[in-house]
Amino acid sequence: MRFDGRRLIIRLSHRPYADLVTNPEAPRVAAATMRMLSRGACRHCPRCGAGHLFARWFRMVDQCPSCDYTFAREDGFFLGAFVINFGFTIAGLAILMGVLIGVLASGGSDRAIAVVAGAAAVEALIVPVFFYPFSKTLWSAIDLAMHRGETWAAPRAGVSGR
Ligand SMILES: [Zn+2]
Repeated sequence: MRFDGRRLIIRLSHRPYADLVTNPEAPRVAAATMRMLSRGACRHCPRCGAGHLFARWFRMVDQCPSCDYTFAREDGFFLGAFVINFGFTIAGLAILMGVLIGVLASGGSDRAIAVVAGAAAVEALIVPVFFYPFSKTLWSAIDLAMHRGETWAAPRAGVSGR
């Protein structure tokens, strides 16, 4: 993408995945991305791997206590975390909906239907609450992986990134 003074020129490759095959850095970048995502999935800082990012279950610190990485750099940053949490909850409900369809198709009793419906209600209440902090650190990891080239995303001097 470049600007020639009058118009913005965007060139799209006709082989969008060619870089993944020919770029010698691709395996290193993929490994770094997986490391960030696995740290985020464990409620750890995606940049350095430090834990203790939550003062309470719903209260995340603004900056990593180890590497000073700022998690929410702008208003609405954690909208992505909401989408992850919502998707995870809906996926669980979809599985229970499949179970309910199976129960109905097999002529299940009213009790079996009530059990599945109750499980869906419990899932819809419990999963978003439980998954909340994980969704925030996972979103932070996705954001960092997408913006790893930005200056603010670079590790601070003296922090190895483990
Ligand atoms: Zn950190």
